[in-house]
Amino acid sequence: MEDTIAAISTALGVGAISIVRLSGDNAIEIANKVFKEKNLAEVESHTIHYGHIYDDNELIDEVLVSVMKSPKTYTGEDVVEINCHGGIITTNRILETLLNNGARLAEPGEFTKRAFLNGKKDLMESEAVIDIINSKSEAARKVAITTISGKTSKLIHNFRKRLKDLLSQIEVNIDYPEYYDIEVVTEEKIRKEITEMKKELQYLIKESENSYVLKNGIKTVIVGRPNVGKSSILNKLIGQDKAIVTDIEGTTRDVIEGEIYLDGILLNIIDTAGIRKSNDIVEQLGVSKSLSMINEADLVIVVLNNNEELTKYDEEILEKTKSKERIVAINKNDLTKNIKLNKNIENIVYTNTNTDEGIDSLKNKIKELFNLEKIQTKDYTYLTNSRQISLAKEAYKCLLSAEKALSMDLPVDMVEIDLMNAFNGLGQIIGETYSEEILDNLFANFCVGK
Ligand code: GDP
Repeated sequence: MEDTIAAISTALGVGAISIVRLSGDNAIEIANKVFKEKNLAEVESHTIHYGHIYDDNELIDEVLVSVMKSPKTYTGEDVVEINCHGGIITTNRILETLLNNGARLAEPGEFTKRAFLNGKKDLMESEAVIDIINSKSEAARKVAITTISGKTSKLIHNFRKRLKDLLSQIEVNIDYPEYYDIEVVTEEKIRKEITEMKKELQYLIKESENSYVLKNGIKTVIVGRPNVGKSSILNKLIGQDKAIVTDIEGTTRDVIEGEIYLDGILLNIIDTAGIRKSNDIVEQLGVSKSLSMINEADLVIVVLNNNEELTKYDEEILEKTKSKERIVAINKNDLTKNIKLNKNIENIVYTNTNTDEGIDSLKNKIKELFNLEKIQTKDYTYLTNSRQISLAKEAYKCLLSAEKALSMDLPVDMVEIDLMNAFNGLGQIIGETYSEEILDNLFANFCVGK
């Protein structure tokens, strides 16, 4: 934390502008050494200055330098941002010049790590920084920016405040046990509040689990025998001829992927090789890959041929996918119906890829299965990763245990321990307490310069 760090904050490539960023006690001093026109130590905070960067006496670039003094900065430290001409050579030369003048190259995510350690962002908000950078859909962006704005953290702070209030009420009970009346009243109040909080926390966990598709999208796999029309359905869904469509069995040997957005949510669709016994090694690899993909998928679209009776392989596919979120597309609906389906197969749509028949129904079915319309109208305050959700679940268990202890008339300090554990668990979500290991893991996923 004592070093002044530097990194290129924009994507390295050809572009109009790049930004090289400095943060730390010596940020302004280092920038001053390489910026000749003006004394940056004397300028006002949050101002921008035109000039040139020199490496010794060699002119490197014409730049705009932003000077932002602690504490109202991203990291909470003095920050200088150099806007230089884009392109790999110039940007790297500017970084190199800063390193030669006393800055250290920042580690991935180190700016945000400093923001966290200096109390500018809590852990949840810091995690959302990487989420917003990586967001692949409008929905993912909305969740991330809601978290960065602190709305979700507020929810956690509120839970913790209520737990703290409960704990102090219990303290009063322990300190003044002779006031029996107070004890009865407060115990009843405590019990009610614990039950209420438990309910609210459970709701948040459930909603967060349901909403994971907002951030991660829906991993969709299309499976079916060769030639039933999987590639044609993929092409219709994504609106381009990405998969090769032929009438020779086994054409889609490996997997082909496409992406579409349904109501702002990313649907990542994978067309698999036809599932059937094959002698061709390449195709065999494709087949076993399809089967393992079924296990990993959030949604499986099983394609069957309307024109043919069900085969042993169709039955096998239906059996293998029965416990997944599944839509069964009966394709080639323009041809004579020869298929006979078991009555208890749900979520069937009929498609004909020579036209667009059934494609909208297929999309609507997906929206319905994943409750997309309902998720979309919510306010985007969710726990967004497994670290946060598992801590919330731990806290929930503690509340459950506190509730039990109360109803079994166990000593009140047992209840106190449970409530304290819930308080601490929720604190870990926002980083009130943290381990070095958690920080290292978290920031290792960041890019350099953020
Ligand atoms: P895949 O092997 O399951 O990916 O199947 P393809 O998408 O490659 O399609 C196999 C053959 O079926 C091609 O000749 C397509 O033109 C044809 N086909 C696909 N969908 C339909 C459909 O809805 N109706 C008819 N009649 N033919 C279709």
